[in-house]
Amino acid sequence: MEMLKAKIRDIPDFPQPGVLFKDITPLLGDAKAFGAAIELFRQRYGNRHVDYVVGVEARGLVIGAALANALGTGFIMVRKPGKLPAETLQATYQLEYGSDSLEIHLDAMTPGSQVVIVDDVLATGGTMTAVTELVATLKADIIEVAFLIELSFLNGRSQLKNHSLYSLIQY
Ligand code: AMP
Repeated sequence: MEMLKAKIRDIPDFPQPGVLFKDITPLLGDAKAFGAAIELFRQRYGNRHVDYVVGVEARGLVIGAALANALGTGFIMVRKPGKLPAETLQATYQLEYGSDSLEIHLDAMTPGSQVVIVDDVLATGGTMTAVTELVATLKADIIEVAFLIELSFLNGRSQLKNHSLYSLIQY
């Protein structure tokens, strides 16, 4: 875990003044660290029946796709508005810095699918709450919501109490 933490960089005042941004690009760029992070997630879900990993734009797509490949599951993208080409469902949410919407393809998965949802950082929990609403509307079962990093002091976990929640690294 310390090896992973050493590859996460703090960028003050990005993208707005007052935000301490957790930059995971050094971790992704390091074969050992990226591999170790995906392996830790794989160990957690490898013995469960998982149909899909769902990843959240943007960095959740990178982690999620790698995890889906490691687990041998399909991968589903949740993206910013206007990016997905077919018919979508949309949810709006509050960010630590502003508000935004996210979309998923209406036909992304069949009801009853077993999914793990992945993102890089849990801050206030608004983003992941919106994603769980999208996935629930498609009537899939959420095994767990998973994060590389949990900013515990923002208590995003309290917004997601109806779900099992896992994070590799806590600050
Ligand atoms: P939230 O909805 O507040 O939980 O914010 C989570 C989303 O915003 C994730 O997709 C993160 O990528 C991004 N995010 C929020 N705060 C930070 C932060 N301090 N460092 C890096 N990413 C962040």
